[in-house]
Amino acid sequence: MANILGRIPLRDRVRELERIYGVIEREIARTLALMDIGNYKELKAIEIQEKIDGLVKMLNRAAIKWSKKAVPEAYERGYAVAKTRLEILGAQKDEEFSAKTHTQTIKYETDKTMDVLIRANQSIKMNVATFIYLARAAAKGLSQFQAFDMRDEEFIDELLGDALRAGGTRGEAMRTVREYFKDRFGDAQFININGRNYQMRKYADLVAKVRLRTVQTEAVLNSCKEYDNDLVQVSDHGSEFIDICLEYEGNVYSLSGKSTTYPYLPEYPPYHPRCQHSILPTSEVALEVRRANA
Ligand SMILES: [Zn+2]
Repeated sequence: MANILGRIPLRDRVRELERIYGVIEREIARTLALMDIGNYKELKAIEIQEKIDGLVKMLNRAAIKWSKKAVPEAYERGYAVAKTRLEILGAQKDEEFSAKTHTQTIKYETDKTMDVLIRANQSIKMNVATFIYLARAAAKGLSQFQAFDMRDEEFIDELLGDALRAGGTRGEAMRTVREYFKDRFGDAQFININGRNYQMRKYADLVAKVRLRTVQTEAVLNSCKEYDNDLVQVSDHGSEFIDICLEYEGNVYSLSGKSTTYPYLPEYPPYHPRCQHSILPTSEVALEVRRANA
C-alpha cells in the first residue's frame, strides 16, 4: 500500500477538520438555542452575536492552522508516491524544471484552502447576524421594519415581504422568522455557500476531501513535469457509480495530448465533491510489461 494515494486523502487530517467543525457546530447550536424570538431582548441578542463572532474567530484560526499543516502534507504525500513510481519507471529528471514550482504550488493551494474555509466561516457569521437582525425587526414591529439598515433587501423581502404587504402583525412576522430559521438552525445548517445550506461538519468533510485530493493531483502533475513524463492512469476501484468517473476510471491518458495512442486528459480528479479517484504516472513500457504479464 506504499505506492497508492488511497481513496480518501490523508484520512486523519480529514477527520481532524471534521472534528473541529463538529465541536464548534455544537457550541453554535447551543448558543443559538438561548435566543427566544418570542421574547426578544436586545442585550441577550448582542451577547449571542458576540459569542458566535468569537466562535467564528476560533474557527478561522483553526482553519488557517489546519490548512498550513494538511496542504503541505497532502502535497508531499502525492509527490512521494508519484516520484517513487517515476523512479521505478526509470524516468529521468528534466534539468529545466524549477524546484520552486513545488513551494509555489503548496503556497497557492494552502491559501486557496484557507479562503474556502474562511468564506464558509464568514457565512456562519452572516447567517446569525441576519437571524438576529430579523428577530429584532420582527420584535420591534413591522411599522419600524423598513427603517432598519437593510442587510440583504432581496432576502428580507422574500422572507417578510408577504407579511408586510398583507399588513401582518408582529406575531406573524416573528413566526415567519422563527419558521425560516427553525429548519436550518435546528439542523445545524449554519453555512451558506452559493445559495446552498450546509451543516458545518459535513461541509468541513467535503472541503477537506476535495481540497486535499486536488493538492495531491497537483503534486502528481508537477512530478510528471519534473520527470518529463506524459502518461498518467486514473485509479480504478469501481466504487463509484457516477458517470463522469466511470468515463475516466482505469484509463490511461496523455497530459500533453501529444500521444498517438492515448487521449488527452481534459480534466483532473476530483471530478465531483466526493470523488475518490486519483491519477498516477505510468509509461508505455510499464503498460507493455503489464500487458505481457496479463
Ligand atoms: Zn471519482
